[in-house]
Amino acid sequence: MDTISRERRSENMRRIRSRDTIPELIVRKLVWGLGYRYRLHWKKAPGKPDIAITTQRKAIFIHGCFWHQHDKCRHGRLPKSHLDYWGPKLARNQARDREVHALLFKSGWDVLVIWECEAINAITLEQRLLRFVRSPQHSRTESAKRRRASGSRRLR
Ligand SMILES: [Zn+2]
Repeated sequence: MDTISRERRSENMRRIRSRDTIPELIVRKLVWGLGYRYRLHWKKAPGKPDIAITTQRKAIFIHGCFWHQHDKCRHGRLPKSHLDYWGPKLARNQARDREVHALLFKSGWDVLVIWECEAINAITLEQRLLRFVRSPQHSRTESAKRRRASGSRRLR
């Protein structure tokens, strides 16, 4: 017997896919282990990044390969049935991701996307995370460039 309504079920699905997935826990643990402290699903940053290292403006998303349509990944393939439902729905997710990343970048955040299927190899993942958290913030390097540029103008 189907006691859960359709809306309720999709609500459950949404919750399950967006919080505390195993890959998410793995990434959190690694970032913590690297000595960085973070906020989870931080509402003050565009798109509520899964992990937000606020002091350094680094945003990390852990994306489910299906929900976010991981390119060239077998989990990112469109389902064969109910394509008229899934097609637009998943396309909307991807459009939203692009929008969120652009917004974050514009407000000075660096963005890293970890795909669920990539959260398996902890060593590779740790190296990637380390590179990301240690890389200079793009907003800072840009403003430094601007400062240097305006400084040189003053000299002339
Ligand atoms: Zn994948």
